[in-house]
Amino acid sequence: MHITEPARQIDVIHTTDVLVVGAGPGGLAAALAAARAGVQVTLVERFGCFGGNITTVGVEGFAWYRHEKTVEANGIGREFEDRAKAMGAAVPESQSLSYELDSEGFKVVADQLVEEAGITPMLHRMFVAPIMEGDRITGIITESKAGREAILCKVVIDATGDADIAHRAGAPVTHPPREELQAASVMFHVAGVDKARFMDDVRENPQTYADWSTGEWTVETDGKEDEMFSPFLKKPFEVARDAGVIPSDLTTIAGTWGAVHDSGEMTYMNLVHLGNCDGTDPADLTHFEIEGRRQAMMAIEALRRFAPGCQEVRLRNFGMTLGVRDTRKIDAVYNMTENDVRHEARFEDSIGIYPEFIDGYGILILPTTGRYMHIPYRSLLPKSVKGLLVAGRATGGDRVAHAATRNMACCAVAGQGAGIAAAQAVKSNAELDMVDLDAVHKELDRQGVRRL
Ligand SMILES: Cc1cc2nc3c(=O)[nH]c(=O)nc-3n(C[C@H](O)[C@H](O)[C@H](O)COP(=O)(O)OP(=O)(O)OC[C@H]3O[C@@H](n4cnc5c(N)ncnc54)[C@H](O)[C@@H]3O)c2cc1C
Repeated sequence: MHITEPARQIDVIHTTDVLVVGAGPGGLAAALAAARAGVQVTLVERFGCFGGNITTVGVEGFAWYRHEKTVEANGIGREFEDRAKAMGAAVPESQSLSYELDSEGFKVVADQLVEEAGITPMLHRMFVAPIMEGDRITGIITESKAGREAILCKVVIDATGDADIAHRAGAPVTHPPREELQAASVMFHVAGVDKARFMDDVRENPQTYADWSTGEWTVETDGKEDEMFSPFLKKPFEVARDAGVIPSDLTTIAGTWGAVHDSGEMTYMNLVHLGNCDGTDPADLTHFEIEGRRQAMMAIEALRRFAPGCQEVRLRNFGMTLGVRDTRKIDAVYNMTENDVRHEARFEDSIGIYPEFIDGYGILILPTTGRYMHIPYRSLLPKSVKGLLVAGRATGGDRVAHAATRNMACCAVAGQGAGIAAAQAVKSNAELDMVDLDAVHKELDRQGVRRL
């Protein structure tokens, strides 16, 4: 059954040069970079805070791949960490030479960065439709408590993670069936940990990345990762299954903790893995939000009973929303490949480098060697729609390429490149696929991004 929605007039509430939609690591970096390159920028976000998965899901391990020899782009991604550290919104991360972002504190960090850059913030507005003139996008329609409203602009950057805008504007996207997508997760933080006792047990029974490969999952490494420490938790859940606290067929509760704080909080609990969830289907989202919370409570009960130092543990909070890793990707002018991310790809149109960190689809390779890849501008350019760039986890690439580029620091690299290219296109009145790459490179250099 269908109904026909009547045509209606919509107020144009705002006009800008660069309109960034979605404020995760990709969109936030894009908005900051474009504003710092000297154009008007507006940042639209459906939730009440900036930060995307960092703040709305509670994904705090921004650079947990970093080791002594890791070579990276720096730029705005590094600034997120440094600024959070300076504002007391980060703690040393447990397995790397990085800082774990505080998912609540980072909301304030992001507010300040947005304000300082002179970006127009628009929270609580959801993109629902593109405004098209032929094959060119000239703005978007949003829905909010105020109803439907239109925003016009010269360039749109789609940083929704799901390529919502590219898809609705008619750009080709890939959208694998739900059984091929990476699992979704309900993330949570707990309070009440006896830190000294918990850490004693971590030292006495150290877990490594090789432990990821036992039981439910097999993880391919380079071999060099196998002996390295991982903040991995599995044993309490095995015991809980034997004791009937967790159903015996629920074998996917296991994973990593992020940081244990002196206050007894343990954050970034990445223990619940929900397969067959399509993050663009509200029916799946409804089912897995509820199922994920149910599993998280079982995990907490297992910790209370069977993890040393966790007897008094209680739920502190869930992420504001289910964590979705994987949905649509654009078919870009250049789609990155497994070969590119495994073999240090080099591109003339590099907009930043990313270390050889591959995490996903059963692969874990850590950048302990100094190897790195280039991220090409063309992987942000959707085919067949003018005026549109895509930043963040929906850029063009195959599965294994995505296991590298989906990571938050890489989303920030792509975002910064997208923001600078968009600003350059506005300033020179050029098409995005004809933008002066020398000028883009100069601005990347000025903004402190390593791209070669
Ligand atoms: C459980 C989990 C654990 C992870 N662990 C790690 C990790 O340890 N390290 C790591 O580097 N990466 C990790 N990732 C991956 C990483 O978080 C994402 O790939 C990354 O955040 C993607 O960045 P993004 O900017 O593309 O999108 P997001 O961070 O998803 O941000 C997209 C933003 O767009 C907004 N939005 C979406 N649609 C609309 C719309 N229609 N209108 C308006 N706004 C919209 C969203 O609200 C959101 O704020 C993890 C992911 C998950 C789910």
